[in-house]
Amino acid sequence: MIDYQKILFEIQEEIKPFMSQGKVADYIPALGGVDPDQFAMSITLFDGTTYHIGCSDTKFSIQSISKVFTFSKSLNIYSKELYNRVGKEPSGNPFNSLVQLEYEKGKPRNPFINAGAIVITDTLLSHYKTTDDTFTKVLDFIKEVADNKEITYDEEVCLSEYRHGFRNLALANLMKSFGNLDNEVEDVVKTYFKHCSITMSTKELSRAMLFLANHGTDPISKRQFSTVNQAKRVNAMMLTCGHYDASGEFAFHVGLPGKSGVGGGIVAVVPKLMSIAVFSPRLNVWGNSLAGTQALELFTQKSGLSIF
Ligand code: GLN
Repeated sequence: MIDYQKILFEIQEEIKPFMSQGKVADYIPALGGVDPDQFAMSITLFDGTTYHIGCSDTKFSIQSISKVFTFSKSLNIYSKELYNRVGKEPSGNPFNSLVQLEYEKGKPRNPFINAGAIVITDTLLSHYKTTDDTFTKVLDFIKEVADNKEITYDEEVCLSEYRHGFRNLALANLMKSFGNLDNEVEDVVKTYFKHCSITMSTKELSRAMLFLANHGTDPISKRQFSTVNQAKRVNAMMLTCGHYDASGEFAFHVGLPGKSGVGGGIVAVVPKLMSIAVFSPRLNVWGNSLAGTQALELFTQKSGLSIF
């Protein structure tokens, strides 16, 4: 049997040289003030057993990890139709890039780059009608998959991103000009920022991802949140697009479906076994947690677990 707690202790020691490398996401000023030296890692197994290391109860901004939940939710509603609005190919470009969107006539490559996630938020807004209801439904979904009613968002981070969100507004406006946004730009982008500013700990995130490790059904509560096919798509998307233009790097080094956020979090899934969450705010050049990526690579090396 694998001694997960021992592996986590080893990882905490071995990532120390990486902890000082990289840079916190200060393009969202409220995130720039986060203590950069934090580290946490959590594992949740199918029977509910958990293992943790570091500040695993500290809540941080989940940012783009929220895109896993909004994509899952929108797939529930629209199924295959969704791909008329957003693609399923890696972009090979930074998460907030505008160029490809112009060439490809306002249809984002995938639901995990910002443009794609903004379209997904637009689809949810069309379904739930108001910005408040849309956000509440997204948050409710996260509360349900996490089996935790306490999850909320950080208003300061949300406002800070809105005040400095020129690039996301540009992406949304560009898509609107191509007819790929049905609602008002302001409403869509505000809702997008709000779900990005949801805060969770690694303990909570590793619990919340468990349904995706088990073909869409939470192995603890036995509740089905996605169909088998939908869960397969979300995992495939995490593997191929979850780390933007470093998705190949992540698959190569870690070998698990995963999704990062500029708040410093990364979630990953070991199918049929567990889900993992890691947090360390300093980011690499691609906007993914530097020590977090390293920790996940060490984890798959030491445990021998990977989808390959
Ligand atoms: N809210 C962030 C943004 O739009 C999300 C980016 C990320 O986490 N990669 O820039």
